[in-house]
Amino acid sequence: MYWIQIRNPAIGVHPARARKLLTEGKAAVFRRYPFTIIFKSKSKDEIKELRCKIDPGAKTTGLAIVSETNIVWCAELEHRGFQIREKLNDRRTLRRSRRNRKTRYRKPRFLNRKRPSCWLAPSLMSRVFNIESWVKKLCRLAPITAISQELVRFDTQKMIDPEINGTEYQRGELFGYEVREYLLEKFNRTCVYCGTKQGPTHLDHFHPKSKGGSDRVSNLVLSCVKCNQKKDNQLPADFLSDRPKLLARLEKQRKQPLADTAAVNATRWKLKEVLEATGLPVEVGSGGLTKFNRRRLGVTKSHWSDAACVGKSTPNSLNIKGYQPLLIKAMGRGSRQMVNSDKYGFPRGAPKSKHKFVCGFQTGDIVKAIVPQGKYTGTHTGRIAVRYTGSFKLKTKTQSFSINHKYCRYIHKSDGFSYGFGELVNQKVKVVKPVINQLINPTQLNLFDTAEFSTQTTQTKTKRTRKAKGTEGEQLTLF
Ligand SMILES: [Zn+2]
Repeated sequence: MYWIQIRNPAIGVHPARARKLLTEGKAAVFRRYPFTIIFKSKSKDEIKELRCKIDPGAKTTGLAIVSETNIVWCAELEHRGFQIREKLNDRRTLRRSRRNRKTRYRKPRFLNRKRPSCWLAPSLMSRVFNIESWVKKLCRLAPITAISQELVRFDTQKMIDPEINGTEYQRGELFGYEVREYLLEKFNRTCVYCGTKQGPTHLDHFHPKSKGGSDRVSNLVLSCVKCNQKKDNQLPADFLSDRPKLLARLEKQRKQPLADTAAVNATRWKLKEVLEATGLPVEVGSGGLTKFNRRRLGVTKSHWSDAACVGKSTPNSLNIKGYQPLLIKAMGRGSRQMVNSDKYGFPRGAPKSKHKFVCGFQTGDIVKAIVPQGKYTGTHTGRIAVRYTGSFKLKTKTQSFSINHKYCRYIHKSDGFSYGFGELVNQKVKVVKPVINQLINPTQLNLFDTAEFSTQTTQTKTKRTRKAKGTEGEQLTLF
């Protein structure tokens, strides 16, 4: 939603009130994205403490600002990711070929490069930087006092070490959630026997319980209702006697830890470091907890709603009906390349000018253009790409065309992002009770044989004392 700023203290304000303040001339627009207004005189409103919540994803990150009771603002931030990798690859290819053509042969040097220990690939760091710059931006505009971040998909620590965070993990609903999420991810949300993604999935004891199978995660597979009933209490070797290849694959897969997406993992931990450097308290939550909160509040899945549900601090009500989430897309801040080249590496077009600005505008500015005559008569709002002739390229929501610079007026200066608005949120207000430790089906309580379990994770403030015993102990990898 809209919020108001008077130098430092700021408060979330309902759009209707913001409109009224603006028309009455009591406030002025301070920033367009995110929409911020500034009071012209001191406001008597109470200042709420806000929490910034983040759900980092590989392509899109959800952002939400939440007060004690409600969502105040939300957005989805799209990263550049693969674009950066491709551009770097292009540059590398051109440089390699140029070196071959322009210099005499020299033997390759060997092992003479060092990377800092915490080095991450530029495409990954761009995600961290995007989120960091948005968190800092939001902190400047609103009184944010705390940050929540989704750190891991499945909180294996809490699955195994129940005393870490109260009893709701031990025997509450959350417990089953972490296991279920983990298995859904491990088996790609498909039935292991027939491969269907349709319909509800059950957790199936691969080696049936009635024949001595354990409740450990490594003995659990996903199965559709049909296959689950068909299998009943048969041993896997009997049930899959006509499909020996599948049997062999499942035997192997069920004991293997989840495929390691080290990149996402590393990015999330790095992000935690960066967020902690802001000096605000950072709360971390797991994906299982996020999903649990989202279901509890009855919210449909989206990046922003996931962000709003991160962590234990999630409010017990949601009020965001009629709001359109801001869609932020990282666009980069220009290029260092001096001359464009064709696919063979030959220069194309004139070299880049020394000046980024043309007639006071630069590429990436968002402008309002009032065209008095011609094909495009009317008012347009969009992002421009400057040309040195003074005839800019304007890209609006629906079309893109050339426009003279003299018709353009700034709305928002280039900051490396482009903006749009998402679908109208039609979420009804729902107030739920805080989580109470509810006992669940007792068979789910001993899903883990904790004595034989261990993880490699090193979460802050926890000491791992248990070691893996036996051969079946599955090692969980964090996301
Ligand atoms: Zn099936």
